[in-house]
Amino acid sequence: MFGISLRLISILGLLTALVMVGLVIDYLHMWRRPWRVGLIVAILGIAAGVALTVSAVLPAGNFYGPVFTEVRTKHKIVALTFDDGPYPPYTGQILDILREYNVPATFFVVGRNTIKHPELVRRIVEEGHQVGNHTYSHIDLLKADRNGIITEIEQADRAIALAAGVHPHIVRPPHGFRDAVVMQICREKGLKVVEWSVLSRDWTNPGVQTIVQRTLSKVTTGSVILLHDGDGISQTASRAQTVEATRHIIRELLAQGYQFVTVDEIIKRNGES
Ligand SMILES: [Zn+2]
Repeated sequence: MFGISLRLISILGLLTALVMVGLVIDYLHMWRRPWRVGLIVAILGIAAGVALTVSAVLPAGNFYGPVFTEVRTKHKIVALTFDDGPYPPYTGQILDILREYNVPATFFVVGRNTIKHPELVRRIVEEGHQVGNHTYSHIDLLKADRNGIITEIEQADRAIALAAGVHPHIVRPPHGFRDAVVMQICREKGLKVVEWSVLSRDWTNPGVQTIVQRTLSKVTTGSVILLHDGDGISQTASRAQTVEATRHIIRELLAQGYQFVTVDEIIKRNGES
């Protein structure tokens, strides 16, 4: 978007200064005719800050560069995606369920967790699922500097390659947060940024039925469903609810005639009528 890529945090800093100047000008009764220019500048500065922040944290929206959230299709296809693993025993339990129903999924794995449990990432790949990069230590990339972002992505890539012999070409920034620099680095590394369209907040463990209902009520043709087989890098929370919900979601969507595909496959089928 900008000729030079500024970090969101820098832009917000500049806007804050602009708002302060605008308010001071208005307070001092300067430049009030024909309009209260100081106040207008302050209001526009706040609005711009809100809009830029919302664009950085919401999954949909291509303001900082193209991200993938779902596809437009009439076909009953959906992509199941799991974040934050690998995390025993839950990742293995989810893989068992996927195998039982012969359903492919996409796992955005954390590099640090991959180092701890490489055998699970190997199994993900061996069983025909797709792997994506979810950074090395699951940090908020908006708070990292350029070198930090590059290191997070490269270290995760190295861990995944070491574990399973593949280099992912898709990335999901932790929490989906990105700005112009995050997007630029992903582009330079040939990584497609993948967000999601169906969120059940399963990581808060709201109950199996709630996860299932929230998911099913939002799913439509071409949806990308976000679930969590892991718990960031802390690996303390149970993911038993997500495991159980996964079984119900798969069973119900198969009964409704949906076909499950990987992220790569669903992107390929964008716009199919
Ligand atoms: Zn995550």
